[in-house]
Amino acid sequence: MVGLQAEMIRSELEEVVGTPNLSTDDTARLVYATDWFWLPQMWLDRGEKPRKPDYIVRPGNAEEVSAILQIANTYRIPVIPWGGGSGSQGGALSIYGGIILDTKRMNRIIEIDEKSLTVTAQAGINGAQLEWALNDKGLMLPHYPASANCATLGGYLSPRGTGTISTKYGKAEDLVLSMQVVLPDGHIMRTPVVPQHAAGPDFYRLFLGAEGTLGVITEATMQLDYLPEARLLRAVLFENLADAIEAGRQIMTRRLDPFVIRLYDPRSTASRVKKILGYELEGAYMVIGFDGDKDLAALQEQKAMEIILRFGAKDLGREPGESWWNHRYDFYYPPQSLKLPWMYGTTETVTTYDKIEKLYYAEKRAVEEGFKDRDIDFIGHFSHWFHWGVMVYTRFIIKNPPEDAQEAVRLHNRVWNTAMTAVLENGGMVNEHHGVGLKLSRYMRRQYGDAWPLLERIKKALDPNRIMNPGKVGF
Ligand SMILES: Cc1cc2nc3c(=O)[nH]c(=O)nc-3n(C[C@H](O)[C@H](O)[C@H](O)COP(=O)(O)OP(=O)(O)OC[C@H]3O[C@@H](n4cnc5c(N)ncnc54)[C@H](O)[C@@H]3O)c2cc1C
Repeated sequence: MVGLQAEMIRSELEEVVGTPNLSTDDTARLVYATDWFWLPQMWLDRGEKPRKPDYIVRPGNAEEVSAILQIANTYRIPVIPWGGGSGSQGGALSIYGGIILDTKRMNRIIEIDEKSLTVTAQAGINGAQLEWALNDKGLMLPHYPASANCATLGGYLSPRGTGTISTKYGKAEDLVLSMQVVLPDGHIMRTPVVPQHAAGPDFYRLFLGAEGTLGVITEATMQLDYLPEARLLRAVLFENLADAIEAGRQIMTRRLDPFVIRLYDPRSTASRVKKILGYELEGAYMVIGFDGDKDLAALQEQKAMEIILRFGAKDLGREPGESWWNHRYDFYYPPQSLKLPWMYGTTETVTTYDKIEKLYYAEKRAVEEGFKDRDIDFIGHFSHWFHWGVMVYTRFIIKNPPEDAQEAVRLHNRVWNTAMTAVLENGGMVNEHHGVGLKLSRYMRRQYGDAWPLLERIKKALDPNRIMNPGKVGF
């Protein structure tokens, strides 16, 4: 944006956040031109020009956020909340320019309540910083995403993230008790302190999963747990995936309460597990863990192992389970992470136990057969287990994508369309924890069918000028 209007907006924003907290120079704008979505990263890698934001502002509190949104409404320009920028869905991209609202200056812990076991913090606090402060008091926020070092509390909640130990402790959204939110018109509101009640519908949850399209989360109160006395981990090897999924289902439906079940499909066992953990195995590798009181955890583990061994799985002992725990994040960072110029994507989905196996094979077949000529690799693991179903984290990898950026976009979109069609036709959700962002925005109508117009009406009522993160989450 250039000219007089640009200068007017700039001076108004500067008035709100102060000169050091506003950037309009080219370098800063380029830094905010991509999150971890493959498409914009590839675009930059191939030397193409990205769409940059016009302004980057770093407000320090809800009042400043409110003033920024009011300015954006006056001039009808987009506002895109930005936490750590670690999202993989293009949710924080400024595809129509506008204002990047970086929340990281809102990084204060407001209160740790050691009686109710809660923490209240500003939404821009870094995940690792928050965790360290809690650990010093023998506490933890039991949301352990692989991105904790680079993500923020608001970024955990806004796309409805899931961490490594969610199977016992729940998703980020299950841990939130209350939030302060700034609505698109600048109104500041707080949800009730007590999250479970019967005082009307739970409309506050609208902001979880909205990914900045319905407002900005500026504070949250989260449920904590004590650091566990014991963490018992072990690994087992199943001959086939079907037995492993059924064993996992039985453990969950009997409520044996593992904090983690990480099950790798045979292709991942032979490739990623071998490469990262160094075990050469054939079959489906599963890590299972129990935590908390050490006697209770040991009993739960014993009961789970009775189920596992009934399926003829081989007990590999503690060491490979503990090694996985110690290296659990290595899978996602250099030198082990997938990297450009490869094309890759995580098509993680969730469904009920009656459908999960069929869905996994349908997606695998569709992707492998549809892109045989590209020598596509399809790998997966099952990592967030519920009482009713499980998430499968599937990935495709193409090591020889087109060099031409436009052609790469076309191929990328075709793979996603193939994968998402298989997912939707087999009862899956387009996503379980990375959120929708820009990447999955075009599937939202199909996902929700006749329920979609209700969401559109809510969006229209809250954000009539459509300033909040346009082009995302189907809006
Ligand atoms: C290496 C790596 C590992 C990952 N592992 C996991 C994992 O284990 N589990 C998982 O769930 N995800 C994972 N992710 C995805 C991503 O890191 C998470 O979704 C993370 O929680 C995003 O937080 P962020 O602060 O970086 O958000 P951003 O990327 O900055 O934003 C994500 C979306 O939320 C919106 N947003 C951000 N802050 C706010 C706010 N305060 N109010 C309203 N909207 C807001 C943004 O506009 C955007 O739409 C991983 C990503 C990477 C790169």
